[in-house]
Amino acid sequence: MTDIVLIGPPGVGKGTQALVLADRAGLTHLASGDLLRASIRDETVLGLLAKTYVDSGRLVPDELVVDMMVDRMLSAGDTLLDGFPRTVAQAEELEERLGRVRRRIDAAVLLTAPRLTLIRRIVGRRSCRACQAQYNTYFAPSRVEGICDACGGELVTRSDDNATTAQLRLEVYDNQTAPLVEHYRAAGVLREIDGTGDPDEVAGRIAASLSVAAAEPKVGPP
Ligand code: ADP
Repeated sequence: MTDIVLIGPPGVGKGTQALVLADRAGLTHLASGDLLRASIRDETVLGLLAKTYVDSGRLVPDELVVDMMVDRMLSAGDTLLDGFPRTVAQAEELEERLGRVRRRIDAAVLLTAPRLTLIRRIVGRRSCRACQAQYNTYFAPSRVEGICDACGGELVTRSDDNATTAQLRLEVYDNQTAPLVEHYRAAGVLREIDGTGDPDEVAGRIAASLSVAAAEPKVGPP
C-alpha cells in the first residue's frame, strides 16, 4: 500500500499537481477541500457542519475531517492525500488509525512558492461551472473573460477565493499547517519541491523526488 501526502499553502498548485501525480503513480486522489465542497453542495450533515468554516477560510474541526478522509482511504487502496492532514493533530490521528491496519505515510511532498505568486494564483483562479476546466486571470486567462474556452460554460470563482479570505487562509496555513512540515521532516519522509514555474516542470521535480523517496524510512508504527 502506498500513501503520499501533498502539503503546501493555498494557491501553490496542489490540486493541479495532485491530478498529474495521482494519474502517473496510479494513486486515488483524495482532496479534502473538494470532498467538503461536494458535501456542502449536496447539503449532507457534514456539509452543513462544515460550511461556515470553509466559506470563511478557517479549518473545519479535526474530528469531522479525519473521519471523512480515513473512511475514504480505507476503501480506496493507494492514495494521494491533498489538503489533509492540515494540522499536527490530524497527522497524529491519521497515523494512529492507519497503524491499526498496518498502513503508514510513505512520503510527504511540500510545495512552496513566494507569497505574491500564491495570492495571484488564488485571487485569479476561475473554473468552468460545466466542465471544471481551470483558468487564472493572471497566468492562464480564458480567451473571452468569464467564458470557458473548452465548452463555452460560465467561469466561476470559489466562495473563499477573494482577497480577504485568501489572506486569512495564508495565515491559517502559517499558524496551523506549517508545523506539519517539521513533523514529516523529523520522520524522514519530507520532500521539499519548488512550486514555481510551469506545471509540467513542477510535476517533473515531484516525480524525481519520489523515486528517491521509495528507499527512505516511513512514518508510523512498524
Ligand atoms: P486551499 O488549499 O486552496 O486553501 P482547499 O480546497 O484544500 O483549499 O480547502 C478549502 C477549505 O476547506 C479550507 O479553507 C478549510 O476550511 C477546509 N479544509 C480542507 N481540508 C481541511 C482539513 N484537512 N482540515 C480542516 N479543514 C479543511
